[in-house]
Amino acid sequence: MKILSLTGIKFNTNYTKDNVRNSNVKSAGTPCTIKLKEPIQKDTVSFGAKIPSIVTPTMEDLIKRTKAVDVLRFNVLRLARYDVPCPVCGHVMLDVDKFNAFEEKIMNSKDSKEILNNIGELKKYLHSVETKIFSIMRADNARYPERTLLEMLKIRLPQSETKIVQQQTKIFSNIGLLSRELPETERIQVQDLLSETFSRVLDPRETSRFSRRIFIDKLKFSFIPKQEIINLRSNYEQEFLAQYKPKSALKNLMNSIKLKSSMENYIDERLRLNVNKRILTYAQEKIMSEAVTLPAAYNNVDAFIVKYAKRNYKGADPNKKIALRMLSNSLATVEHIKPQSKRGATEPKNLGLECACDNNRRGSATIIEQIIENKFMPVHYKHYMKRLCQLHLNNIVEKSYITQQNKTYRTESRGILDADLQELRRHNHKKKYNKNDGITPTIKERRLARKNKLKNKKNKKVDK
Ligand SMILES: [Zn+2]
Repeated sequence: MKILSLTGIKFNTNYTKDNVRNSNVKSAGTPCTIKLKEPIQKDTVSFGAKIPSIVTPTMEDLIKRTKAVDVLRFNVLRLARYDVPCPVCGHVMLDVDKFNAFEEKIMNSKDSKEILNNIGELKKYLHSVETKIFSIMRADNARYPERTLLEMLKIRLPQSETKIVQQQTKIFSNIGLLSRELPETERIQVQDLLSETFSRVLDPRETSRFSRRIFIDKLKFSFIPKQEIINLRSNYEQEFLAQYKPKSALKNLMNSIKLKSSMENYIDERLRLNVNKRILTYAQEKIMSEAVTLPAAYNNVDAFIVKYAKRNYKGADPNKKIALRMLSNSLATVEHIKPQSKRGATEPKNLGLECACDNNRRGSATIIEQIIENKFMPVHYKHYMKRLCQLHLNNIVEKSYITQQNKTYRTESRGILDADLQELRRHNHKKKYNKNDGITPTIKERRLARKNKLKNKKNKKVDK
């Protein structure tokens, strides 16, 4: 039986209830304890090959690479079985297997009560908005058992929509006021966007939906001249084509894929650089930070109701879709700590866990940008790391995976995210001295050892 070493994660196959230490991690009000009923099956996958680089890919390389990446992701995802809290929002993440079992139950359930009971079983994984929606639905179901989930949302739609429009209007008018400080062309662009959006928000028809994400994107693009983007694109294209002279059909295809993705990354990089290097003026920055406060379905109950009461479900059963949506945000996903678009590699030290909600929202943002959006991330990150340490103490994960991951987080966040890994050291300490007939050194002995160390160091310096 080989143990995974390249992935940095080791799964103990001889897992029993006895060697599990009871532990509590407080994360966003949800304490989680290790609960392991069945031992892990002996299906641990290991792979010895490194992930091939794709500089000059052959078909075989590509297949190998895909396989290796899949195994790696699979192994990281397995950690989610042990109720790991999300490093960004602090909620306990849901394991894929549990979610699949849940999906099957939902698909077979007949009425709202059964659906709600199934959600209730996984209540501890619900995020805060979903928890509130869930308790609203439970209360509704007790009174009106006939109502479907969609009907429950639709009944609340007018009230919620009014609240949301009031909030949005306030933000739009703030942006409008701030836009007066912009140069004329930009001001007209922003104000046009505002009036277009405002009429969309006030449109009572079901087909008229407002997308927060599209609005923010349009706003950002109005601050960076389109001509600049076009110039960038054509320059880069020519540069790229000059370097590349495709010969075979396969290479042709590969190059076009590579060209497209790297071009997108390049443009994205330039836009981000502009934002990061504070090329945005003061007024532009203020407008952007105002736009970010627009309510969204992940942080506002009314926004959730409006979004899912008005959604087009395209023939699928809306009740089941809503039920799945309640938990899909809590799903554990693999995330690149340094984003792929910033040349973050797919290797163990750059892969961590994050809930689907935060991962989707993140896009290609850096860790710093993520911290700016999630003020409590440093606290939640500590809980996340503490949990990983506990898993190490139970021989579930290798120490090097934790230390390397912490290092990546530290460098990417420029020191803001840095967990105390003392527990790992303490564990080692015990191990070391347990080897010496189980005798732990007294304080005096330790002092002596430290003094000797210092003396040795001094002597070495003198020698030099
Ligand atoms: Zn999260």
